[in-house]
Amino acid sequence: MTTPREQFQRHVAWTSHAPMALEVDRAEGPYIWLTDGRRLTDLISGIAVSSLGHRHEAVLAAIRRQLDRHLHVMVYGEFIQEAQSALAALLASVLPGDLSSIYFTMSGTEANEGALKLAKKATGRTRLVAFDRSYHGDTHGSLSVTGRSVYREPFLPLLPDVTFLPFDRVDALDAIDNTVAAVITEPIQGEGGVRVPSRAWHEALRDRCTEVGALLIFDEIQTGMGRTGTLFAAEQFGVVPDIITLAKALGGGMPIGAFASRPEIMGALRENPSLSHVTTFGGHPVSCAAAHAALEVLVQERLHERAPGIEARVRKALHIPGVVEVRGMGAMLGMVLSSPEETARVVSACLADGVLLGWTLHSDTLVRIAPPLNIPNDTLDAALEIIRQHVGR
Ligand code: PMP
Repeated sequence: MTTPREQFQRHVAWTSHAPMALEVDRAEGPYIWLTDGRRLTDLISGIAVSSLGHRHEAVLAAIRRQLDRHLHVMVYGEFIQEAQSALAALLASVLPGDLSSIYFTMSGTEANEGALKLAKKATGRTRLVAFDRSYHGDTHGSLSVTGRSVYREPFLPLLPDVTFLPFDRVDALDAIDNTVAAVITEPIQGEGGVRVPSRAWHEALRDRCTEVGALLIFDEIQTGMGRTGTLFAAEQFGVVPDIITLAKALGGGMPIGAFASRPEIMGALRENPSLSHVTTFGGHPVSCAAAHAALEVLVQERLHERAPGIEARVRKALHIPGVVEVRGMGAMLGMVLSSPEETARVVSACLADGVLLGWTLHSDTLVRIAPPLNIPNDTLDAALEIIRQHVGR
């Protein structure tokens, strides 16, 4: 009989030559147990997914209830499925502005695909503006607006008519004119190295888009669902986008994404032709039930309000020689070390001592710190102590 490790080595497609290949047994709260018995404290939350920790009981209960009613019954948007409708209504009640019409997808990149298509359809324009170092996903449309040429070049040609501007530079925004359908940005860049732009830039961006009639898309796939200290990062900067995209933590550990907009914009998907953006599995009822439970927990327990406390603890603990900088906001943080070699050494030393850290996709000197929002203080402090022991050795 072949072992799961052998099966992984032979048959699971790899996306690098050296996957972490940790063999998971189970996960609960802030911990992941490996099949060799080791327990890891999860400081990356499956990349900003497990914000309620692993296997939150309210999420599990909602999944069980939905399993006993129905699984997939029909393609997206045709039947009334309580799990889906209830999630849409709950999301509409917490999203900023009038982003009250919600389209469900299965993943983050699909949410961005939908948002880009919606913007083209609603404005009748084709040009897209995005920012250097952005990350929006790996399907063709999302990759076309991802601001790292090393990832785009092997797949050219991608979407034409995409302009990249420097991030967080007010003077660059003049390039957004009345030929632009949409400007897409993460309110805080994640994979590009956890970069927080200024409030002034956000305000200028919002004003410029309004002035020229371009739709502003906030990709809150990583920043959303409480990670930065408010339910959505848009609130941190006092701006409301025209379209917002969500995924990752939205599903409480189940796969789901969404793009939301004002009803008059979303209406563009109904005609010329009708059914101009459809999906079979988008808004799967089990994922929607899980997402509804997760959002209820987040809102009722006000878990987003724990994010600033997490940030303060991390900043205090990591204010030590060897740490070049800690940047980010709330529970979306990055620790910058002096070199790629040092970063690799610290990450693997911490792993050996039971603390799971990781890189961001586009930066090899930044260690991602994005724990579950409900991580107990003593668990976080113990993990930070292990990082302190290994940095600058
Ligand atoms: N946008 C952002 C900001 C992301 O961080 C990610 C995933 N890292 C995506 C989009 C893509 O999401 P998915 O992997 O679910 O397609």
